[in-house]
Order: sequence, then structure tokens, then C-alpha cells
Amino acid sequence: MTRLLYYENSYIKEFDAVVSKVIQESDETKIVLDRTAFYPGGGGQPCDTGVLVGENGRLNVVRTYTEKDVVYHVGDLSGEIKVGDSVKGIIDWDRRYRLMRMHTGAHILGYSVKKVFGLNVGFHGGALGVDKSHDDFNTKITRDDLSRLQEIIDDVIAKSIPVIVLWMDRKAAEDYIKKYGEKLTFLHEGIEKIRIVEIKDLYAVPCGGTHVKNTSEVKGLRLLKRESKGKGITRIRYTLVD
Ligand SMILES: [Zn+2]
Repeated sequence: MTRLLYYENSYIKEFDAVVSKVIQESDETKIVLDRTAFYPGGGGQPCDTGVLVGENGRLNVVRTYTEKDVVYHVGDLSGEIKVGDSVKGIIDWDRRYRLMRMHTGAHILGYSVKKVFGLNVGFHGGALGVDKSHDDFNTKITRDDLSRLQEIIDDVIAKSIPVIVLWMDRKAAEDYIKKYGEKLTFLHEGIEKIRIVEIKDLYAVPCGGTHVKNTSEVKGLRLLKRESKGKGITRIRYTLVD
């Protein structure tokens, strides 16, 4: 089991760790550490990239993933890194920070959709990117609606609202998020402790991603366009504004 530093503090850019496993495959190396700040992907948020630097070698981390509570850092190894070595992990912070801003922005978009269309309308899948993202919602959204949503988003960012993380038992989590029109889904089956990301007193949703600590850090989120995906689903495309 890897200790997940990104859940203790999502702003950790560099960390020290000890190598617990090295898997050498034909064209890539996989390294497991006792702890990591690399987000291994999930919930629509892509995994982190970066580098692991040891005394005698260096892994250029091109992707990370998790399997059974263990995080694997995958990439090209130059030199040598072996079990027991101390390494410094350095995350590609520009990329990760944009994904954090984007992820919090996605939650603000989710909130704006509920505010305009009602609590029963919600998120129906999506994908976050460093430059562009999209989310699907289970309602018809017209081009004219986009400006209403944009106004709400701008307002939430301008209000500098804290973004907090709560861990709750299933039952408590279910009750807590109900008033925000959210419920636990098949994704949370079998999970005892639910992680909730809340834009303070505005919108709380179960989420495993990394977030900025205040809506002001999103800086700007611009809705680009909407597309009908059929069956009453609308896709909204958006990007960050600096
Ligand atoms: Zn999320």
C-alpha cells in the first residue's frame, strides 16, 4: 500500500521516498515507492508525470497508475534505481496545477448547471485535460444557456470561496451530499470512507481528485461550446483563462 501524499496536501511538488519495488520490463521500468505525491489518475483527472531522482539513476515518469492501493511510476530509467534506495520525486507542477485548477473549475461548472437546471440535473461523465476539458450533463443546454452558466462560474471564482476536503462514512456522506443534488454511484461501491470535495456551503460532491484550495485560484474558466450528444445529453467544452 502506497502512502498517498497528494491526499494529505495537494500542493506537494517534491517529496522524498524509499523504493519498495522495481519492475523492469522490455521497454519501460515501473517503480513503487513507500509514499508518493504523484496522482495516479482517476475521476476524469489524468495522471501526473515528472521524475524520480536517485543517487545513481533517474526515472523519467511518463505515466502513473494505481492497482490495489499501490501506485506505479512508469517510464524510462537511466542509470540504476534499486529497492531500498532513497529517491526524490518531482512532479511536473505546471501540468498538475493546471489540472487542479481545471478540476475545481469542473466542479464549479457542475454547480452552475444544477443552479440553472435543478438539482436533479447532473454530471454524466467527462474528461479533464491540461488545455481543454469537457463534461456531459443529462439535460438539454442551449447556446444561450451558456452565458447564464458562465455568469455563475465567474461569480463563484470572483467570490474566492474555500475548497475543502472531508472524509465520511458512506451513510454520513450520502446524507451530506443529498442537499447538493448528489448521490453515491457504482463508483463508490465497497468503499467505506468517502472523500468529499466541497466548495464551502455551495456544492459538495464525492471526488478523488486534487483541487486548488480556493475558487479564486481557478482564475478563469471559459465555456467554449456545447454539443448535443443525443438522448438528452449535452457536452460542454471549456478551458482555463489566465
Ligand atoms: Zn471531481
